Amino acid sequence: MILLRYDVLTVALLTITSVQAFWSSNQWDASRIRLRQFDLTQSSDNFYRINDAVDGPNETITDETTEYRLPTSVVPDRYVITLIPNLDDGNFTFIGAVEITLNVTNATNSITVHANDLEIDDESVSVHRLIDEVDLVVLGLSPDTGRHFFTVTVSEGLVVGQQYRLRISYTGHLREDMGGFYRSYYYVGTEKRWLASTQFQPTNARRAFPCFDEPGLKAIFKVSIGVDFGRHALANMPVESIDVDAESGIVWHHFQETPMPISTYLIAFVVSDFSNLSSSDGFYSTWQREAAVGQAQYSIEVTPRLMRALEAYTGQEYFLPKLDQVAVPDFDAGAMENWGLITYREQLILYVEGVSRAMDKQNVATIIAHELAHKWFGNLVSPKWWKYLWLNEGFATFFEYFTTASVETSWRLDHQFVPYAVQSALSSDSLQSSHPMTVDVGSPNEISAIFSTVSYSKAGSVIRMIEHCLTPETFRQGISQYVANHGNQTSEPDYLFRALQEQYENEVESPEFDVKTVLDTWSTQKGYPVITVSRNYSQGQTIVRQERFLRNMSESPTDTRDYKWWVPLTY
Ligand SMILES: [Zn+2]
Repeated sequence: MILLRYDVLTVALLTITSVQAFWSSNQWDASRIRLRQFDLTQSSDNFYRINDAVDGPNETITDETTEYRLPTSVVPDRYVITLIPNLDDGNFTFIGAVEITLNVTNATNSITVHANDLEIDDESVSVHRLIDEVDLVVLGLSPDTGRHFFTVTVSEGLVVGQQYRLRISYTGHLREDMGGFYRSYYYVGTEKRWLASTQFQPTNARRAFPCFDEPGLKAIFKVSIGVDFGRHALANMPVESIDVDAESGIVWHHFQETPMPISTYLIAFVVSDFSNLSSSDGFYSTWQREAAVGQAQYSIEVTPRLMRALEAYTGQEYFLPKLDQVAVPDFDAGAMENWGLITYREQLILYVEGVSRAMDKQNVATIIAHELAHKWFGNLVSPKWWKYLWLNEGFATFFEYFTTASVETSWRLDHQFVPYAVQSALSSDSLQSSHPMTVDVGSPNEISAIFSTVSYSKAGSVIRMIEHCLTPETFRQGISQYVANHGNQTSEPDYLFRALQEQYENEVESPEFDVKTVLDTWSTQKGYPVITVSRNYSQGQTIVRQERFLRNMSESPTDTRDYKWWVPLTY
């Protein structure tokens, strides 16, 4: 996901960009080594741009990690979802039904799923044992609205290794708050045209269908959506068939099943009367208001070029049979990387030559690159839990600049990375209230709070730092191996560090550092060091010191941790 915020960058700091030696003591005598290069970068007071994250956590992050997690005895294998949104009766509800095929990993007699703001038809809830086609007796239904849990208790134990099917019918609400399955509108003249779109990341798929709404619990999805005549539906996959219910007039769009397991937060639907502009091969389409079709030309032209650049970099092709991108009139975030159906705030995908600013064009390209990068980092290799969100957003921020730099070569986005990403990270991460890149989170509010400059820009900057340490090609090959090893699975930072280390050891006879040792100090601690270099010319001595940088250095730190980082120094 990309978020929006205007930011002023005012901090001038040392940025150390490549390595000749690693150093992590408080004081280092470098008298024998000639100091060669530091890359000093300073941003101006006048830099304004659309930033990609909110600035730091907006609430205290605690260690509350398990209370909000689902039990692990039962996990999803496959969802079949049926939805009928009603945009015209003034009530803005939708009728839904879900069938979840379940695998049992530990004996239990209850199944707990997430559900939020859904009116579940208690009579409809059933649990079916697949091996002998027997319906189990449902003993009780227990909603826990605080944690968005819905627990179904059955009369007999679910057997490890067997599959069951949970069925639930319900009514949901097309809300106005741009979360879950929500409603939006635009005008044609004085006529109000309604549409429905989705925003599930991080914890709002549960507002659209009962589900195991955690990023690590990936499953296959098959979706059908019934719409009124005059509208059409889009989902992650292409339409497999369309049929019309003669009695109700509902037009059913049955979508192909996903070819791989997908995290719930990446599922999406759009029901609208939008028009599309497509690439000549029909693979890429952008969907928008009819009046805005001409404004999609640049996105249709640049998207395939960005995709090819990312495929070449990762060594892995994009996997779905189509890519739709939708310009949504009401959209809370900047854009959302739903697999096969990326949604954008209108002005971040549409561009009018001669009217829009040059910066608008750059935003279109970089935000598309950001969302496409998620196809590998987040969608294919998904975080085990939200505490590793930086694995998604750090890489998306990194490629947002460096992939676009390889496609739009005159914009110098590789240089822009420093003022826009590194400096904004330094600014945000210099506060006492900052958080580590890897941070324990539990409740939906805690999870939302880490969609922050640290998870985006600091993580992107640390990724760039290790790229410089390893050299770009060694880094690229390590990343390619990481994606190959963990595709269609879930990941944590150690998997990334291991892949990079292995590639480094393949390339270098005597490695000078250990990737995990270095990156643990950057990813598990908040803040960063300010480096002070003192040279004594008469004695031919250089003293290098590190200490945690706080925006207000006279303020005493709020914790007693002895902060030290492994710092790459170029000399
Ligand atoms: Zn993102």
